[in-house]
Amino acid sequence: MKLLVASGNPKKLRELEHVLADVGIAGVELLSLADVASYPEPAETGLTFAENALIKARAGAEATGLACVADDSGLTVEALNGMPGVLSARWSGAHGDDEANNRLLLAQMADIEHRAAAFVSYCALVVPSASGEFKEVTAEGRWEGRLLRTPRGENGFGYDPLFEPLDAGGRSSAELTAEEKNARSHRGAALRQLAPAIAELAR
Ligand code: IMP
Repeated sequence: MKLLVASGNPKKLRELEHVLADVGIAGVELLSLADVASYPEPAETGLTFAENALIKARAGAEATGLACVADDSGLTVEALNGMPGVLSARWSGAHGDDEANNRLLLAQMADIEHRAAAFVSYCALVVPSASGEFKEVTAEGRWEGRLLRTPRGENGFGYDPLFEPLDAGGRSSAELTAEEKNARSHRGAALRQLAPAIAELAR
């Protein structure tokens, strides 16, 4: 059974591969966007992670007729009322400029003592059916921690150098190995919740 992972990020495909192997699901061939005929990627216009994950998974399923998984994720900071949230990738204005995003966030939080934060991921699975209806399943994963005052570590991406998870022994998430991060992360948690629905498809 083929499953499209609607992401240009090969790390996400590998993460899902690991989760499926961990929970013993065989017989699922994961395809990336590079493996299917290209289709216009939808604008992420949702106001929540769940909406954006569904927008991406629906577009993939509609364009290809394949079951499709997509995720939307970001950092949510308590003292900023949950922001950067869905704007995490473009917090400083330029999409994907991690350094500028991190600089701006540190400046905004400079004199704030309350530093609770969490990485959040919503994963959506959309499955086309013979009747033309789509079955949709979503799952949320959270990774609790606090915002550091200076960046630490070289691994990961995005806000990893600024995030100290509660379960990482005082290291930032950029100081964890990929295996350590996958075992704890928000995306891993959300993907693991989708595993039973994926197993059902593979049956
Ligand atoms: P996307 O859902 O992969 O587009 O991620 C949105 C943005 O959230 C990224 O550009 C990062 O800034 C941030 N983000 C999401 N997950 C992580 C993570 O695991 N580490 C660091 N930053 C993340």
